[in-house]
Amino acid sequence: DVTATKGNEFEDYFLKRELLMGIYEKGFERPSPIQEESIPIALTGSDILARAKNGTGKTAAFCIPALEKIDTDKNKIQVIILVPTRELALQTSQVCKELGKHLQIQVMVTTGGTSLKDDIMRLYQPVHLLVGTPGRILDLTKKGICKLSDCAMLVLDEADKLLSPEFQPSVEELIGFLPEQRQLLMFSATFPVTVKDFKDRYLKKPYVVNLMDELTLKGITQFYAFVEERQKVHCLNTLFSKVGQIRIPFFLARYCRYVPIILMYYQQLQINQSIIFCNSVNRVELLAKKITELGYSCFYIHAKMLQDHRNRVFHDFRNGACRNLVCTDLFTRGIDIQAVNVVINFDFPRNAETYLHRVGRSGRFGHLGLAVNLITYEDRFNLYRIEQELGTEIKQIPPQIDQAIY
Ligand code: ADP
Ligand code: MG
Repeated sequence: DVTATKGNEFEDYFLKRELLMGIYEKGFERPSPIQEESIPIALTGSDILARAKNGTGKTAAFCIPALEKIDTDKNKIQVIILVPTRELALQTSQVCKELGKHLQIQVMVTTGGTSLKDDIMRLYQPVHLLVGTPGRILDLTKKGICKLSDCAMLVLDEADKLLSPEFQPSVEELIGFLPEQRQLLMFSATFPVTVKDFKDRYLKKPYVVNLMDELTLKGITQFYAFVEERQKVHCLNTLFSKVGQIRIPFFLARYCRYVPIILMYYQQLQINQSIIFCNSVNRVELLAKKITELGYSCFYIHAKMLQDHRNRVFHDFRNGACRNLVCTDLFTRGIDIQAVNVVINFDFPRNAETYLHRVGRSGRFGHLGLAVNLITYEDRFNLYRIEQELGTEIKQIPPQIDQAIY
């Protein structure tokens, strides 16, 4: 339970009064376990390697100490928060702005896909906290526009992703620009063994937090349904459908375990908001079109869209303008939309880590969630493997899903 804590209060950390106000105005009453572990340690200046479940408040666990440490009398970049995607950068900067509402801290977001010239202009103004993706920040730093001589804190959110081959060279190069006295905070829900190498090289006697012993994906009920590829859209329609369905007689359902289209007979899901994952950009566009044709409201988002458009979709979906969002793995990490109670893997992910991050989009901060996986014959081994690897249980979808579980 994310709310089961040691009983610390935010007051216990001796934060600036303005910061404390921001925290309470955001509706946080008490620190979550990962916040209880990280905030006091981060305030001492120690490096941290923290692993905690999706949706348990990692963002505030590093934003609060970051905001506390910034000295607004110095007009220098003092903290950088690195994230792997542009949407996550926007979301994280938003959290910083909200928490720091009563502080005079200047937060700036910079990511690829936006005008470099605008960024340069904005960096002529004072900036204290920079949130962004590694490529762009490195670019600005190498051009001498971002000056990092006073940047004493670097946060890697979704750290394992930032240390994957795609980002690692930029991240390492960027670290080279930081002052000798720097603090490095790394957060994620997943850390593979490869991080160890990085940890040994860059972290100084890090405080290691691991809050993953409890059941991963707790609070999220996971189901699978065997289908054939060509029946997937039909299945989805059935899950969404408002029309009452004929339910398959129970005795039949028991014997139909491996028979496709069973899903046809299930009743409609109670979707607050849903995210539907596909494995490719093309499939996202096709599926979104089909869903719209079926008469359900739906947005889609993927990496090949223009950034402006992406931002708009993200913003509108977050504000509840639309119930369903079809997307690629662009949206797997970090995105926090509490209204999402259902995640559908229209295409089953290829590995356990992706599965964990996708499904973790529901069930945020102790809310319940539901994941439905459409499994084709080819996916079946993958399903068992992922189930094993995560030590979780993905059950066959029952004839009727109890609404109390999500
Ligand atoms: P993570 O990065 O661990 O996946 P987030 O930082 O995105 O999780 O937080 C998940 C949700 O929990 C957010 O909507 C956030 O506002 C909320 N949250 C975080 N900390 C607290 C808290 N102490 N009290 C109440 N809600 C919180
Ligand atoms: Mg996060």
